[in-house]
Amino acid sequence: MKAVRPTDPPRDPSNPPTPYVGRFAPSPSGPLHAGSLVAALASYLDARAHRGRWLVRLEDIDAPRTVPGADRIILRQLQALGMHWDEPPVWQTQRHAFYRQAFDQLLAARRTYPCHCRRGQLPPGPYPGTCRPQPGKPPPPADAPAADARRPAWRFIAAPGVEHFRDRWLGPQSQDVAGEVGDFIIRRADGLWAYQLVVVVDDGLQGITDVVRGADLLDSSARQRQLARALGLPCPRLLHVPLRLDSQGRKLSKQNHAPALDTRQPLAALQQAWADLGFAPLTAHNTPAFWADATGQWARRFA
Ligand code: GLU
Repeated sequence: MKAVRPTDPPRDPSNPPTPYVGRFAPSPSGPLHAGSLVAALASYLDARAHRGRWLVRLEDIDAPRTVPGADRIILRQLQALGMHWDEPPVWQTQRHAFYRQAFDQLLAARRTYPCHCRRGQLPPGPYPGTCRPQPGKPPPPADAPAADARRPAWRFIAAPGVEHFRDRWLGPQSQDVAGEVGDFIIRRADGLWAYQLVVVVDDGLQGITDVVRGADLLDSSARQRQLARALGLPCPRLLHVPLRLDSQGRKLSKQNHAPALDTRQPLAALQQAWADLGFAPLTAHNTPAFWADATGQWARRFA
């Protein structure tokens, strides 16, 4: 796949941008909450600290989890907090053609195969490769009628060996994808494109240089790097920020009924997220001052 870069907006020549492109990629399964703000704040600060561009991508590909109207609420919340995107937001549900093209590329390269295993039948741990095609036997075409009537899921053939990378917050990381995860799903049995595929395609085609997100997604990173390489896309740099936990030590999330973020007091919400990242409180009395101070501190640590 070729990375398509949109034309740059006009810039102040005395303050040239760096090639940095970051993104915030919320799933619109509900409004932003205190936990998702931490990821949004970190990705925004990193982009501003690098004088880069910051994009917003609405990850609404998982239609059953999408809540109608949550996308608009999220965008309004970001604006209320003073977070401004540098290109119009994109919605994954409008990008099926890109995912199809990537899938076809993996199919042609024989890096994906249909899988009829049902989740409940599989042992815990890595996928044992039950449906993996035998060497020398070509995989069936993507839309061929399956041997059994159920639609298959499609798995990506994990590359053998340990995947090493550096996380800008957490330091050196490694994972043996084939050994610890096994071949993983890129197209679900219900026909939906899986998160792992769409995030890699989107980051690649949007020219994302830096992924900044919550540490719950660290475990996906090695898989995503393998997929990017298989698609001929660059691997972005990574920075995973600590998760905000609820009083029972669980990740604050929509599934755990985290309340929607109240953006009527933007400074208080931002200060809280800043503290959740482990920084000392800022003396800023309004949001522009908060952004100036926080960006400066972030730049000293990460840029
Ligand atoms: N859409 C994902 C989420 O809301 C984030 C994906 C990513 O940043 O890679 O958890």
